Amino acid sequence: MSSNNHLVATASALEESTAPRSEASVTEPVDIPAPAPSETAAGGVAVDTRNGIEVTDLDIYYSKFLAVEGVSMTINPRSITALIGPSGCGKSTFLRSLNRMHEVIDGAYVRGSVVINGNDLYGPGVDPVAVRRKIGMVFQRPNPFPTMSIFDNVIAGHKLNSKRMKRSETEDLVEKSLKSANLWKEVKDRLDKPGSGLSGGQQQRLCIARAIATSPDVLLMDEPCSALDPISTLAIEELMLELKNDYTIVIVTHNMQQAARVSNRTGFFSIAGTGKPGNLIEMNSTEKIFSNPTQQETQDYVTGRFG
Ligand code: ADP
Repeated sequence: MSSNNHLVATASALEESTAPRSEASVTEPVDIPAPAPSETAAGGVAVDTRNGIEVTDLDIYYSKFLAVEGVSMTINPRSITALIGPSGCGKSTFLRSLNRMHEVIDGAYVRGSVVINGNDLYGPGVDPVAVRRKIGMVFQRPNPFPTMSIFDNVIAGHKLNSKRMKRSETEDLVEKSLKSANLWKEVKDRLDKPGSGLSGGQQQRLCIARAIATSPDVLLMDEPCSALDPISTLAIEELMLELKNDYTIVIVTHNMQQAARVSNRTGFFSIAGTGKPGNLIEMNSTEKIFSNPTQQETQDYVTGRFG
């Protein structure tokens, strides 16, 4: 394993493992460069282009296996982009490539570029840990650290990445993050209790608070509601609609109604057959994808003829 891969594996373990990790196990990250300035549109109105993502000719491999081929897409800032498509077409692999999380798999790599604020995430010398701090991820199953308190869960990612803060600053960050995740009112009187004592929907919002606490620019969500009941799903969807005012959100969902409800733009991925790579078939406004897509395959999928 290369030293880069080691860092990736360490950061991924933070997100995925169920055991708390010590601060000493993670190397101090080198930050990715600051956002580029906003552009000025014709007419002189400032258009804030920060935190959009430009993906160009991206091929994603697991060793020799080409899992996703030739994806180019623009992900608009401060809006929700949904990725839909049949199982195995590479949605999750593609999502993980947006913060280099897929590299936790030995032998996984990409060709092509993923540019945010003028910086290629795969450029030479870019630290995957720093990438992951700026582009946070929420997983399918809520994964709070079970032995940690709610309070410590919120700051777990932040503590690993940043210098020590005063207690009052930490308390402010926890409150702000929990408020942003619409969880504060439900947990403010039991911050010292274990995160695992919360309901599934609350745990998922706790994971969102943990991601927010690291001040990311982008939030990636991999089927965040698939393990939740309809009421908890609604709470997460409402939260996403609020968060998109501040964050660029990309969500993988197998639930087409969810994509239609929450997203501004939708990308439809598909696959020609087993062992073949997944491709982006079509990307457009969500309304267009669900009402009048350009490609027959998209039409067949969104109308339930396959998948
Ligand atoms: P989706 O999210 O659309 O269901 P995935 O991204 O999970 O699709 O999978 C895309 C392809 O990559 C599939 O062929 C899958 O078997 C393969 N794949 C996913 N994860 C791995 C892995 N860790 N190692 C090797 N192949 C993988």
